[in-house]
Amino acid sequence: MAAPIVSARIGGVFIFLFCPFLFFLEGLSTYLLPPLAFVLPLFASQFCARYDPNFTEDMLDMHYWKECPMLTSCKFCGQVVEIMTLNVHMLEECEKRSKFGKGFLTDLDANMDKCPLCQVVVAPLTETGWKEHVLKAKGCDKNPRTAHLRKQFAPAK
Ligand SMILES: [Zn+2]
Ligand SMILES: [Zn+2]
Ligand SMILES: [Zn+2]
Repeated sequence: MAAPIVSARIGGVFIFLFCPFLFFLEGLSTYLLPPLAFVLPLFASQFCARYDPNFTEDMLDMHYWKECPMLTSCKFCGQVVEIMTLNVHMLEECEKRSKFGKGFLTDLDANMDKCPLCQVVVAPLTETGWKEHVLKAKGCDKNPRTAHLRKQFAPAK
């Protein structure tokens, strides 16, 4: 009968001790991260940085394949690429590229600073700019992988 109380107490002590430890870790992360980077990749998405200690290599593959918001599959060849490199992929690498019309490629070339999903200008055109566009708040308006986030905010019908 006393077991729940004991474990609650241990939980309390654990949180009490653990919180300062987390702050301590956060402060040190600048110094700790480079060496930790060898251990952590197994548990974190290398694109969106989502961290989950339950991630296994297989689950990470699944995350990249199906749900990582930073990735998308090319609508022409189906290859999963980073949204930030999709323009370059279509312009230079896509295996269906030979089927693209000249107009499409010229248009693409002129719009390399725009998100290939929603056509909004991404600024700055850096990894930070892209992460901001794709991950911030409800995410990119046309990103199918973050559609569930926008649904929560949408007014009920
Ligand atoms: Zn991810
Ligand atoms: Zn492609
Ligand atoms: Zn977008």
